[in-house]
Amino acid sequence: MAVYAGDTPTPTGIKVIIVGLGIAGLSAAIECHRKGHEVVVYEKLPRLKGVEGDGITIGANGAIVTAKWGDGAFHDMVRPLEYKTNRAKVFDYTGYAYGEFELHGYNEGRGYTANRGALVSVMYEYSQTLGIKVFLDSTVTDYWESESEAGVVVNGERVAADCVICAEGIHSPGRKIITGQEMELQETGFSATRGYLDANIVAQDSKLSWIIDDIETEDCIYGWLGPRVHFGITTKKKDNELFWYCCHQRRLIVVGDAAHAALPSSGQGGTQAIEDAAVLAIALELAGKQDVPLALAVSEKLRYSTTFLDPSWRQRSSIENPYRYQRARIVQQGGLAVLQFVMNHVDFEGLRKDPTMVKPPHPAWILDHDCQEYAVREFPAAAEAVRTGGDYVPHNIPSDGQYRMEYNSK
Ligand SMILES: Cc1cc2nc3c(=O)[nH]c(=O)nc-3n(C[C@H](O)[C@H](O)[C@H](O)COP(=O)(O)OP(=O)(O)OC[C@H]3O[C@@H](n4cnc5c(N)ncnc54)[C@H](O)[C@@H]3O)c2cc1C
Repeated sequence: MAVYAGDTPTPTGIKVIIVGLGIAGLSAAIECHRKGHEVVVYEKLPRLKGVEGDGITIGANGAIVTAKWGDGAFHDMVRPLEYKTNRAKVFDYTGYAYGEFELHGYNEGRGYTANRGALVSVMYEYSQTLGIKVFLDSTVTDYWESESEAGVVVNGERVAADCVICAEGIHSPGRKIITGQEMELQETGFSATRGYLDANIVAQDSKLSWIIDDIETEDCIYGWLGPRVHFGITTKKKDNELFWYCCHQRRLIVVGDAAHAALPSSGQGGTQAIEDAAVLAIALELAGKQDVPLALAVSEKLRYSTTFLDPSWRQRSSIENPYRYQRARIVQQGGLAVLQFVMNHVDFEGLRKDPTMVKPPHPAWILDHDCQEYAVREFPAAAEAVRTGGDYVPHNIPSDGQYRMEYNSK
């Protein structure tokens, strides 16, 4: 295969294994190759998916790197795929036009927009012109490292290198080994739906066909803003196609054990489910039919959505996950604390001397809480946090966010 001028490296002797053939894995493979490292890539899929999914835009800060690949040869390969979108036209949900805006840093010549699958395919194609070794249909099942090497187990074989680059995407097994932790998803309260369409389908819709009229003159991003929803269409004249996305607030919510299963020792699983239900019913009442998604988001904020006890805790890295301080979750911790106490307490002599220790705990913040009064009082603050994306500071938990065996309820 031909090797483009500028990509003929001087070998460094460094051997690199890359797991995953997405944008990260391919970019790592090409960049390492360009620096003279010996690269081998393993990808679990038997073949690349080709044109699939929706569009992806690579900003100028990424394009400045890929422009060097083959002294522009890679960008020559991307050009036929490119959407020539330099401007965005923005409207509100009534159709009111806010105007046209330049897409700085993402416009033609600086960044590029293409179908996601097609872009990955072209990156792969380019990597093959460099002779980079890629093994498809090769799932990495284990990772290891020693003082002098790192490696993977792939197709039952143990392969060694100087380092392993884990580029397996969002569900990366390598990350779990490195950090020792499962990835925690941050709930945003929003869903995004995206798609890819033949423009002729839109041409048949009387309300949208004007976009196809415009497609004749230029590629463009059209965006509509509505109350807690936005919608966008990006057109591509050359191939008579478009991709769209819609980001909206949810109308689905979990309550009870579906949201926060509690240990039996908490004595609170069913009670918390009743609190969930009562708060949700009030939030629906206060938000009204016209704002059901707001009601669900507020309900989550009041019950168990990610939230800060004290915004300054963001900066305090020593505290394990400051996002965790939510009523239902602290009740869950309580179940564990009680269970550990009951199961691990072996000092029965000590208990005889102080029998108060066997009293079941009854924390005031749990048992004296009136969730309905709280929901009515806190609805405006939680709704404001939902609307602005700000923090909601809960008052239905202990002041430091920690569960303790307390005996202070009425
Ligand atoms: C809706 C949406 C829109 C986005 N828009 C943009 C945008 O406009 N601009 C932008 O810059 N970013 C955008 N992003 C982000 C971007 O798509 C991702 O950050 C990027 O694609 C991640 O690439 P990756 O290579 O890390 O992961 P992936 O593309 O997920 O690739 C991982 C690869 O690893 C393989 N793999 C996994 N496990 C194994 C294993 N055990 N063994 C072997 N192979 C394995 C998988 O099969 C896969 O091919 C968007 C993301 C989404 C969801």
